Amino acid sequence: MNAGMITAAYIAASICFILSLGGLSAQKSSRRGNMFGMIGMAIAIIATVASDNVSSYTLLIVLMVVGGGIGAILANRVEMTSMPQLVAILHSFVGLAATLVGFASYLDHSVVLQGAEKTIHNIEVYIGILIGAVTFTGSVIAFGKLQGVIGSKPLMLPGRHVFNAAIGVACIYLGYVFLGAENTSIGMTPLLFMTALALIFGIHMVMAIGGADMPVVISMLNSYSGWAAAATGFMLSNDLLIITGALVGSSGAILSYIMCKAMNRKFFSVIMGGFGTPKASSSGAAAQTGEHTATNADETAELLRDAKSVVIVPGYGMAVAHAQHPVSELTRLLRDRGVNVRFAIHPVAGRMPGHMNVLLAEAKVPYDIVLEMDEINDDLPDTDVVVVIGANDTVNPSAMDDPGSPIAGMPVLEVWKAGTVIISKRSMAVGYAGVENPLFFKENSKMLFGDAKKSVDELVSALK
Ligand code: NDP
Repeated sequence: MNAGMITAAYIAASICFILSLGGLSAQKSSRRGNMFGMIGMAIAIIATVASDNVSSYTLLIVLMVVGGGIGAILANRVEMTSMPQLVAILHSFVGLAATLVGFASYLDHSVVLQGAEKTIHNIEVYIGILIGAVTFTGSVIAFGKLQGVIGSKPLMLPGRHVFNAAIGVACIYLGYVFLGAENTSIGMTPLLFMTALALIFGIHMVMAIGGADMPVVISMLNSYSGWAAAATGFMLSNDLLIITGALVGSSGAILSYIMCKAMNRKFFSVIMGGFGTPKASSSGAAAQTGEHTATNADETAELLRDAKSVVIVPGYGMAVAHAQHPVSELTRLLRDRGVNVRFAIHPVAGRMPGHMNVLLAEAKVPYDIVLEMDEINDDLPDTDVVVVIGANDTVNPSAMDDPGSPIAGMPVLEVWKAGTVIISKRSMAVGYAGVENPLFFKENSKMLFGDAKKSVDELVSALK
């Protein structure tokens, strides 16, 4: 393929990626958005493979078959509940690739640059490796936290802010030394030191972030992986990689902003870590150890039969239990009886942005009854029954009532204002943020214990 055709293919791929992002902004058009993304990626890969830069097709084909094969197997096997971990580990690959390409580009002696060009290229290499290394280890730790291999509690090292600041200052100094290096063998020393510091910083940054802040971390690492790809694009003079990286970087940054707003958190304080650390609670243990009332499927079905309006609040437990299909069936049954059924989606419900929307769409719940927190919170006092299915932190009143709570200030779905709240979960255990939930002890709350799928299946049978 000649240079003109490659440029045309890259422009076509870029347009597809922009259309893909546009499509993904709404549930209705997300399928189309995904399709554009796939077409864009296919064009990008074909154009890259066909470009003159490729010298060994054998190696390329072997690597593509192995990499593509592993990807296909993993994508087929991965559970919907493990999707966030998969996304985190894929971000780590982008970071690792940016780091390795940075070193390869620095050590590549086939292109000899001089003066300003050399300085600019070296800055690209330095920044690319820096962002890549932070993204790599940060994403690996995020994977560990989401997988439950590493505890979700924030690691609070004494003097951690000084430690971070010292790493920042050292990286600036090493950058200065690196840019002044006369040749690559001298330049490698500051580059390797900076890489080690960036790897440590990535680990420390994510270790210091508490469970409740993980949604912001995921979107932030998504953004970093985009900037790492863009930096790689600059190093390789690849326009498509620059555009794609910038799209991922900026959309991840916007998502981080949305997540921070949803949790009423400042981005900077999330990065500084510590949210989710238990503090002295003003309402103390008394609020957490009241009496709870248990209920069963027949009693709940009776309540739902008499209700005029029902709001269903799904959470992570619905995803774990694969309860979305019976929930959809329950919705259909109630709507057939004339009950006004709607869904209330908290922005950080589940384990990744949009988690609940994807599950409900998969189970064919109509889009128009799936509402965001801001759209439905004011209607909850006029709702007869709220059914909470495997949600916990996102319906925790202590976020509003208890300034000492680790999740204080996070907007939540105010389900306790409804006539009756049914909470389907297996036990009285805490959610991801590790915070006790006083909702379970409210007078109008009833606990429907058991696996969410089993409980909703029983509800459906009782209603039939
Ligand atoms: P939570 O994690 O707060 O609670 C989920 C609840 O589901 C648990 O209390 C658990 O209780 C219950 N559960 C688990 N398995 C089952 C099952 N098989 N059947 C029934 N219930 C079950 O969920 P939320 O969705 O309310 O909140 C999400 C949390 O995750 C927030 O803290 C958020 O910050 C965090 N997070 C969100 C991300 C995102 O991007 N959305 C990313 C990373 C973290 P029990 O064990 O008693 O059954």
